Amino acid sequence: MMSNPADTVFALSSAHGRAAIAVIRMTGSAVPDALRRLAGRVPEPRYAALMNLNDPDTGTLLDQALVLYFNAPNSETGEDIAEFQVHGGRAVIEAVLKTLSSVPGCRPAEPGEFAHRAFINGKVDLTAVEGLADLIDAETEAQRQQAVAAAAGHNARLYDTWRMRLIECQALVESAIDFSDEADVSDSAVAVADQGAEVLLKEMSRHLDGAIRGEIVRTGYRVVIAGPPNAGKSTVLNALARRDAAIVSAEAGTTRDAIEVHLDLDGLPVIVTDTAGIRKTMDAVEQEGVRRTFERARTADLVIWLIAPDAGAPVPPDLVAGTADLLTLYNKTDLAPIGADQAIAEADLGISAISGKGLDALARTIGDRARFRLGESQDLVPITARQSFHLTKAAEGLERYLSNPDLDIELRAEELRISADALGRLSGRIGAEDVLDQIFARFCIGK
Ligand code: GDP
Repeated sequence: MMSNPADTVFALSSAHGRAAIAVIRMTGSAVPDALRRLAGRVPEPRYAALMNLNDPDTGTLLDQALVLYFNAPNSETGEDIAEFQVHGGRAVIEAVLKTLSSVPGCRPAEPGEFAHRAFINGKVDLTAVEGLADLIDAETEAQRQQAVAAAAGHNARLYDTWRMRLIECQALVESAIDFSDEADVSDSAVAVADQGAEVLLKEMSRHLDGAIRGEIVRTGYRVVIAGPPNAGKSTVLNALARRDAAIVSAEAGTTRDAIEVHLDLDGLPVIVTDTAGIRKTMDAVEQEGVRRTFERARTADLVIWLIAPDAGAPVPPDLVAGTADLLTLYNKTDLAPIGADQAIAEADLGISAISGKGLDALARTIGDRARFRLGESQDLVPITARQSFHLTKAAEGLERYLSNPDLDIELRAEELRISADALGRLSGRIGAEDVLDQIFARFCIGK
């Protein structure tokens, strides 16, 4: 992916557009040379210096900037780094970037190239890099809390310890193979390894359980609004989002595909999807919409079944499958005919999407259900699908090792090797080349 890791690269690390201050960063061995050319000298490492930046060819003043220098290997990338805090006007940024590109050995950075160099130079492992990408993407407080811990390497350290413990178990089993003619030595080595593997598997399983719930925070708690046509699904969604995300229409069956809005309910990311109205229909497009509603409901955390005085229907029996919760809502209470009290009482909540009555209670209920599903927030584990894949492989290797005590010891040792290998892939110690492009492509330029 990266053109040449020997180049020194630079980029605007702050957002594009006019601002008070812009941050331009560069990393690589030509940093001291660039500093001497533009600022006249290399400032003391890790101390902010107010310096004039000049065009070395013409001597023109480009800007007065706050300059920071971090010398290798004590920097984020492990290389020499300079950071220029310049005034955030477009022309200033352009002029500094243009001047930097004229320094021999310097070129503009590609997306994620700073993080990539930090990884290559052993400053972070892949799980921390992914945490960093999540941190930049974090939109809610809960997402930030998870990502900041991952970016700081909390998981990375845990996985490293697990891998070391696995390798110890593996060494014990291998020593048992070497001493197989001395039954005592061999048996006791395997017994110690078994014990270690058992404890490790317990820890991994607990961690993976927290990961399933952590994934809800990472990607959002998924709520699907379903119900018969005209019950007011789009109106409820709009009212929740307080913006016009879905088309509201009085004609039945207009929401043919799903519309999503992302909400921040007390720091928790919640994705609410409005789906096609469920009714027996001949229209092929509408049928497809109904099929998708069922499909979405199957992967949701919460299915809301919405009915109204003019759109009543029982919950379809196969709508709420898997692990989803169900919340029944009676909408249009402002229209409720006399005698509707019982229908309202039977629903979990009565609301009026038009008048706004009950909407606060609805938002609170969704938030409560989400928090209940998440359980204790301190044992939530923020992991990506890639990390979960390797962790599961590691746990499965251990499970096979433990569940086949009578198997040939060499075959059992192989399971431990598979497990340790999976943890190595998780942190990127093994086989990172295959996934690097994918991971670093998530970053913007300048990170
Ligand atoms: P959907 O087919 O379930 O998505 O239903 P819509 O959101 O398109 O709403 C259908 C009709 O019901 C529209 O005319 C809405 O204005 C109306 N409607 C939705 N919620 C309420 C409500 O709380 N009270 C009243 N009176 N009308 C509502």
